[in-house]
Amino acid sequence: MAHYRIALLPGDGIGVEVIGEAVRVLAAVGGRFDHSFEYSEDLVGGASIDAHGVALREETLEMCRAQDAVLFGAVGGPKWDDPAATVRPEQAILGLRKGLGLFANIRPVKMLPFLVDSTPLKRETVEAIDMVVLRELTGGIYFGEPQRRWEEGGQRHAVDTLAYSEEEVERIVRLGFETARGRRGLLTSVDKANILDTSRMWREITEEIASDYPDVTLEHRLVDACAMDLIRHPAWFDVIVTENMFGDILTDEASMLAGSMGMLPSASLGAAGSVGMYEPIHGTAPDIAGQGIANPAAMILSAALMLRYSLNLEAEAAVVEAAVSEVFAAGNLPADLAAAGSEPLGTEVLGELIAERVARG
Ligand code: NAD
Repeated sequence: MAHYRIALLPGDGIGVEVIGEAVRVLAAVGGRFDHSFEYSEDLVGGASIDAHGVALREETLEMCRAQDAVLFGAVGGPKWDDPAATVRPEQAILGLRKGLGLFANIRPVKMLPFLVDSTPLKRETVEAIDMVVLRELTGGIYFGEPQRRWEEGGQRHAVDTLAYSEEEVERIVRLGFETARGRRGLLTSVDKANILDTSRMWREITEEIASDYPDVTLEHRLVDACAMDLIRHPAWFDVIVTENMFGDILTDEASMLAGSMGMLPSASLGAAGSVGMYEPIHGTAPDIAGQGIANPAAMILSAALMLRYSLNLEAEAAVVEAAVSEVFAAGNLPADLAAAGSEPLGTEVLGELIAERVARG
């Protein structure tokens, strides 16, 4: 029996509700494939601020480093929303990314047939969507120095700095080529090379790396044009690779193409051998937290990505993904997807149905 050690960081709001369903489904995976999963759980985000005064403790980070992978719910909520506060829930995410060396955020966006009519776009535009967006996570304008505010001549001023090194660009772009190689073989590199020096360097490095991947077709798009094309013909895209802030925006846009925030998982990965982190793309949903109605699919599908990328259990990952599709396609839908007038199912009931489907084979 293979044994895996998982850090469980539920966070706040619906993060706490959906992570339990991922654990339930993993138990079914363990039963069917003869694996055991051992969990170490800790507080992060607002819950950790309340208990310890910080969003992420050093000992939590140490605990995560000793596991095979990290499952993360979501952090934040109105209670900790004061923009002037120096201690904020999202510091947990940034701290984990930095502390675990996670430089790549991977978001698969695939149209599931039963969702085709619940997106804001026309059926024929969205039905063939099947892409992966890779976002660089640890560089760019969110981390560059200087980053500060000051007053001068009675005016407020502020500066943020967009900086990248060759190594930071190369490792994410290589991952983009590798990912495209295992799919349709089209890599779209997104930048703002008509304006930014960092983008011109990004494009130059990407062109150099392309010679190592003659089987992959490389195209470059400016971020504004890409934002437009994602709406106009999203099915064109196979793998998109881009820097931190462009990726932050484009991944949210791409996720809306596939129907619902409650359906989309993500993986954050570092260099080979490092501990990956898996989380739904949605937040803590304070408007529905505590009601037991959150859609657990994004969290369960994040656990499937964990099986695939960190534990190397491709067959198990595919079984979980198929179980989610089948349960939902059979009309068992949570409140965010159920048609008006039909009776939606709660978080736990859906988790149980998906776990049963996994166990049954
Ligand atoms: P959100 O993703 O929490 O919610 C947006 C909307 O989508 C809400 O109407 C919510 O009810 C719905 N929704 C989201 N996930 C759902 C699910 N699984 N099932 C059903 N409906 C779902 O985004 P927000 O409202 O902008 O942010 C709320 C809080 O979450 C904020 O404090 C924000 O900072 C935080 N947040 C955290 C993360 C994270 O931890 N990674 C990401 C985004 C937002």
